[in-house]
Amino acid sequence: MKQRVEIVKRIMDSNEQLAQQNRQKLDQNQVFAINVMASPGAGKTTFILQTIKGLPENMRLGVIEGDTAPVTIDADKVTAAGMPAVQINTGGDCHLDANMVGLAIDQLDLQDIDLLLIENVGNLVCPAGFALGNHANILISSTPEGDDKPYKYPNIYRGIDVLIINKTDLLPHLDFDMDYFREGVEILNPGLKTFAVSAKTGEGFDQWLAWLEEKVSENQA
Ligand code: MG
Ligand code: ZN
Repeated sequence: MKQRVEIVKRIMDSNEQLAQQNRQKLDQNQVFAINVMASPGAGKTTFILQTIKGLPENMRLGVIEGDTAPVTIDADKVTAAGMPAVQINTGGDCHLDANMVGLAIDQLDLQDIDLLLIENVGNLVCPAGFALGNHANILISSTPEGDDKPYKYPNIYRGIDVLIINKTDLLPHLDFDMDYFREGVEILNPGLKTFAVSAKTGEGFDQWLAWLEEKVSENQA
């Protein structure tokens, strides 16, 4: 058991080092990077596409798409939206790590990017444990997943900078208690920046986009 603990620690230490290298490369090129996490089906790709659509045209974007299999469905959608996208196939692994992201970053022209959106693998457990070198961690929680998610997956809620509550358009059809959900979040991450949106209709995106644009311009100042 002790040996296993030491191996895990070594893996996490080297991931941390690689994450710092990624951050250095991003900062040298004034790229603001966000890590978008969620469970499968929460609407990560739709959220990213709606975000791309709403950002000013002169903002230069790049996208890294994490997938567990060599399917390019999500990457193709992003490319079709006119964005430079790099796909990472994790080969079945349930999270992105700093090494994978470093390899993807090297395929992008960082000098030509202001904002890098990283779509993590759909999973609420281990992505929270692997630093990638990005500047902000975003979690998308969608209303059909239920209002008990913060209580069941506390770790991921503790480490995020922004929470997106997606699929607000479905609220009339669900037993989703927004107060109960928000109370659970508040205990884990007091004062967390939260935006309730529908990536499908675009509802609620104005405030999220304003936050993001401000962060990108602060990063360039
Ligand atoms: Mg996706
Ligand atoms: Zn994993």
